[in-house]
Amino acid sequence: MPTSSYAELCSLKREAATLASVAHLLGWDQETYMPSGGTAGRAEMSAAMAGLIHERETSKRLGELIAACASDKAVQTDDAAAANVREMRRDYDRATKLPKDLVTELANVGARSQDAWKDARKKSDFKAFQPWLEKMVALTRKKAECYGVPAGGELYDALLDEYEPDARAAEIEAVFNPLRDRLSGLVAELLDNGTPPDTASRKVHVPEAAQHAFGLKVIEQMGFDLTRGRLDTTTHPFCEGLAPGDTRLTTRYDENYFMAALYGIMHEAGHGLYEQGLPKQDAAGEPSSIYGTPLSEARSLGIHESQSRGWENFVGRGRAFWDWAKPVADGFFGSAFAKFSPDQVYRASNLVERSFIRVEADEATYNLHVMLRFGIERAMISGDLAIKDVPGEWNERFERMLGVKVPDDAQGCLQDVHWSFGLIGYFPTYTLGNLYAAQFFEAIREEAPDLDARIAKGDMSPVLDWTRKHIHSLGRRFTAAEICERATGKPLGPDPLMRHLEGKLRPIYGV
Ligand code: ZN
Repeated sequence: MPTSSYAELCSLKREAATLASVAHLLGWDQETYMPSGGTAGRAEMSAAMAGLIHERETSKRLGELIAACASDKAVQTDDAAAANVREMRRDYDRATKLPKDLVTELANVGARSQDAWKDARKKSDFKAFQPWLEKMVALTRKKAECYGVPAGGELYDALLDEYEPDARAAEIEAVFNPLRDRLSGLVAELLDNGTPPDTASRKVHVPEAAQHAFGLKVIEQMGFDLTRGRLDTTTHPFCEGLAPGDTRLTTRYDENYFMAALYGIMHEAGHGLYEQGLPKQDAAGEPSSIYGTPLSEARSLGIHESQSRGWENFVGRGRAFWDWAKPVADGFFGSAFAKFSPDQVYRASNLVERSFIRVEADEATYNLHVMLRFGIERAMISGDLAIKDVPGEWNERFERMLGVKVPDDAQGCLQDVHWSFGLIGYFPTYTLGNLYAAQFFEAIREEAPDLDARIAKGDMSPVLDWTRKHIHSLGRRFTAAEICERATGKPLGPDPLMRHLEGKLRPIYGV
């Protein structure tokens, strides 16, 4: 298979990935241990790295090698190599389509717009943010126009493509619309006719050190390899697949609400297991021969999120998990927690609320928050919705969906950072992740019908083994839709998620 062009191509990608690792390490350090005085210096370091990486990603030599490999029979008859070159070409085309001055303008205006957003959110003053959002939407539209509208699609798809390659807004809408109605109906059924679970066990005071120790125990049980990863503290939790053999998880602690950190840690560890399962290392622990190429990279944000939400909600908020986890937690949390039964903690972990803030939303309402943003950002990009009308549109849609009035814009359209720096087309990947997770877990259960009995004993290997085989090891070889079809035998649909939520929440609420 490997011709000399293909080998040179892979080695160029590996060099670029190594530079990216250095940049990731700078970013991770900035979010965890860097003293605040280091901000300006770090910005220069990061910008220097970004420049170097961009040069590599858009180099003429890279383009020549991709073209040579794309027409090389030896590559084209090797399925893995052909997929690798297809994905490299896609990355190269995107990287070279944006003019440099647009990239700089997006970064500069984005940074100032984000500052303006912070201030506007604090004062709940949309008017102050409106001119910035207008600028950012205009620049983002320009960016989308540079990428070009994909065949049979719309301008928004060009943005979506960055986070969820090959997805189309119209196809997402076809899944989201029926899901929205069924979710709104379920939430109304639970909250209007049901009895909420007792939440006393959620409120037990647990010192940070005990939460951290328990969190480590849980992620080890999930299969996260702590000799190839770490868990640290930050303000905005994230996971970084920093380099081969080095995956960093972060979290934050609230001593009066341990579930925030616990489920945050499980969420990030789900991302981390994906990163550890990608073929970045060989058996001896050396960077693999495909490290840095698309075959060693995560498929999409939606697939990434399916791994994190899968562990967080389908394992962590499941009844079987607490059979194993409760006695373990008692050893760390002490007598105030020990008096609750596994069933009480399980029920408390599944409280449903009509709340305004997406990042604090429960499993049933979360996707409604996402769909609201998807509809609004798509209309902003198409031009159907003027920016000045965003708050009104937001509040009207919110009330229709959840039946409550948004009190102010800070708890409405100003709550998320994404739009302030041009992250448009990103939101739907959160719900795609939940949909994929539900569908994947039905397939896992089919293969391991005794899954609950095994999780109750602390054996989570059926989940890890299945995801390693059907998702992690494949990198970007297949599209997300192909991964889903190959692994579950069906295209992505809303039914598995609804079955999961109805099957779990109706008994808890007694409806
Ligand atoms: Zn996530």
